[in-house]
Amino acid sequence: MSLLEIKDLHVTYGSGAGAVPAVRGVDLTVGAGQKLGIAGESGCGKSTLALALLRLLPASAKLSGEILLDGEDVLTMKWGRLRAVRWAGASIVFQGAMHSLNAVHRIGDQIAEPLLVHRQATPAAARGRARDLLEQVGLPAARADAYPHELSGGQRQRVMIAMALACDPQVIVADEPTTALDVMIQAQILRLIERLVADQDISLLMISHDLAVLADTCDRLAVMYAGRVVEEGPAQQVFTGAAHPYSTALSGAFPRIGDPASRRAPRGLPGDPPDPAALPSGCTFHPRCPVALDECATTAGPELRDAGPAWQAACLLVRPDGGPVAEPGAEEARSTS
Ligand code: ADP
Ligand code: MG
Repeated sequence: MSLLEIKDLHVTYGSGAGAVPAVRGVDLTVGAGQKLGIAGESGCGKSTLALALLRLLPASAKLSGEILLDGEDVLTMKWGRLRAVRWAGASIVFQGAMHSLNAVHRIGDQIAEPLLVHRQATPAAARGRARDLLEQVGLPAARADAYPHELSGGQRQRVMIAMALACDPQVIVADEPTTALDVMIQAQILRLIERLVADQDISLLMISHDLAVLADTCDRLAVMYAGRVVEEGPAQQVFTGAAHPYSTALSGAFPRIGDPASRRAPRGLPGDPPDPAALPSGCTFHPRCPVALDECATTAGPELRDAGPAWQAACLLVRPDGGPVAEPGAEEARSTS
């Protein structure tokens, strides 16, 4: 049994004509100590998936499927159990720490709070642990007395990570944890997250629109498009030889962090992901796909199929014997198939 198993997860905001199906049948697993990256452009359902894991979605969101954390379904947990799980089972690091930290409380007190509430720590013990955690994330313990506005963006993100670590979670969900930061600081924070999860044997579910960031940090990669996983496989293989044309476009569309030499000429990816309330027929990527066949507009799904060992992609062009399809832009793919 994997530590985290997501089974046929659907999340729809609202109902009736205005319903927004943001996540449409996602299956994913994360083993103990494993690092799974989730990539995809804005609007593909990544944050909805992350929030669903801890049932942090607004009441308008309807969920179905299963989210098993250590075998226990988060979606059917009672509130008391859920509150405990939110810190000790899985905790979350969001993008833009300024919105998640309370401006009027010292950061040491904010880190100590979950320990007081969920661990019944004494105030002195919680304060001591908060200072230890600050040092673990590379900040001086004395910064415990600072207010959020006295810290830089990178330091605030370190505080968020310290909070996420406070109750020794089994899994950390990091939703675009570095997107708001400049490139040098991004790389530092990523290395910090990597080191902490490795040292403490924590599983990581890291979300980014940037495939390169995820390929550097994670063991496996899942690529989401229009609320579904369209490819999932070993991180480096998906990044360097994606099986799905969307993943290929995504891997070329963004520069590599902290490595200007490998900054490829962005091939770009024209257009935007579809509005979930008005999805195209057939493969939802076909209107933007440079190698789409006529049948891609009409064949629903397509379902994930094998693209290699422990590697799957949802594309009609993925060969059953595995291996990537031609890169977008390769005209011969269109004429020979
Ligand atoms: P991502 O994190 O990949 O950018 P999101 O999960 O934030 O994607 O959004 C997926 C889709 O769900 C988008 O179309 C977005 O507009 C919609 N959405 C997100 N939050 C809400 C909400 N609270 N109410 C209605 N629609 C939402
Ligand atoms: Mg998001």
